[in-house]
Amino acid sequence: TEWTGVRVRNTFFDYFAKKGHAIVPSSSVVPHNDPTLLFTNAGMNQFKPIFLGTIAATDDLAKLKRAVDTQKCIRAGGKHNDLDDVGKDSYHHTFFEMLGNWSFGDYFKKEAVEWSWELLTKVFGLDPARLYVTYFEGSPEMNLEPDLEAKELWKSVGVPEDHILPGNMKDNFWEMGATGPCGPCSEIHYDKIGGGRNAAHLVNADDPMVVEVWNNVFMQFDRQEDKSLKTLPAKHIDTGMGFERLVSALQNKDSNYATDIFTPLFDKIQEVTGARPYTDKYGKDDVDGIDTAYRVVADHIRLLTFAISDGAAPNNEGRGYVVRRVLRRGVRYARKYFNAEIGSFFSQILPALVEQMGEQFPEIVKKQQDVKELLDEEEEAGSKKLSGADVWRLYDTFGFPEDLTKLMAEERGLSMDEKEIAEAREKAREASKAVKESSQTFAKLNVHQLAELKDQLQLPLPDDEPKF
Ligand code: ATP
Ligand code: MG
Ligand code: MG
Ligand code: MG
Repeated sequence: TEWTGVRVRNTFFDYFAKKGHAIVPSSSVVPHNDPTLLFTNAGMNQFKPIFLGTIAATDDLAKLKRAVDTQKCIRAGGKHNDLDDVGKDSYHHTFFEMLGNWSFGDYFKKEAVEWSWELLTKVFGLDPARLYVTYFEGSPEMNLEPDLEAKELWKSVGVPEDHILPGNMKDNFWEMGATGPCGPCSEIHYDKIGGGRNAAHLVNADDPMVVEVWNNVFMQFDRQEDKSLKTLPAKHIDTGMGFERLVSALQNKDSNYATDIFTPLFDKIQEVTGARPYTDKYGKDDVDGIDTAYRVVADHIRLLTFAISDGAAPNNEGRGYVVRRVLRRGVRYARKYFNAEIGSFFSQILPALVEQMGEQFPEIVKKQQDVKELLDEEEEAGSKKLSGADVWRLYDTFGFPEDLTKLMAEERGLSMDEKEIAEAREKAREASKAVKESSQTFAKLNVHQLAELKDQLQLPLPDDEPKF
């Protein structure tokens, strides 16, 4: 039988349920109760009060000793920000599912290591020769010892020594944000090529064929505002496995996007745009840029749908601004590479996503209509046309160089017509020849419109945009 996404998820739940873990639902991807956090960026977020020992005894979660779930995560903005990679690489998404198992002051390293190894190699049947594990090498500055206990545990489950690698603070000390629960971690990486090669040097080296799959965090500290580490009241296990990455490994694909998680979305995009089919090419190999655009649009509709369903509507602040930026980014790709008609583009892709993920996440079924309306409204608002006359007036009265206006307008999702601009320029020149003060009159007539336009163009530039 095939490892469909659905089967992979359920197999993960079953494995840990049999080991005494309660299956709990994902928390909202919008962390309404945590002002330190832009979006939910890891499975542990909803359990933060348990780790910190601040959970109310009456809270349902307070009774939990072991839990398992899949968590909706967004990494666009904040400490963990992967927006710039999306479209370009094969294994980062802005929205993804993180499978996790937890021990709250119950089992610790030994069980976590043994179970993760058994699940990957025995239940999912991944080839152990393609797996590499890492452990924390310690940090003298932070006064932290190397995690030799983890190293020994990996040896004891049979990982050969040349597949057990030390890792630094950046890769092997997991932190939720600037403050909060943290601890040394031990990760599992999968080599997608195999065939007896040793890929140890490619671990944590940004190689798309040697991918980090699962992080086991040994929660022991709480990072304070002054950067010091305070020891937590108890030790916990917090693990996070990238669902899309695991599925990609199990389906023997080079890329997360070549799995049954994304195929239905690509099919729908193709149906709506009439574009050529998706071929999973990257960088220079994606000659016409269309595969990149497929990935951006499919990734972004997932973020938009889940963020809006959980209450993050597009606007100009914080979370809402990220949602707005992501939509504009998607619109830009859709317009440029698919020549798509903007106004209700994303909402036409939406049904395919709801069909595919609605069973696991019923909130997107329930909120489908709201999501559709917000997407359409936002697309409409962002796709206003900048007339040739406007472009010329911006130059003539505010001194905005045409090039800059064009660039910025494009980034705001405003379309423009070159011929119209040339015509407006010509017309204005003739007019100013005839009437000397014509440009002033012109400006007076359009003060309101120009002020609005100027405001729009002065929005801070999103940092994923081309620099000039
Ligand atoms: P990477 O080094 O690949 O960016 P990470 O170390 O930032 O991953 P963790 O914070 O350890 O990731 O999160 C736990 C797991 O979640 C990772 O091992 C990975 O499988 C998955 N994951 C992390 N970021 C993404 C993402 N942007 N898209 C898909 N899966 C992700
Ligand atoms: Mg990362
Ligand atoms: Mg990493
Ligand atoms: Mg990691």
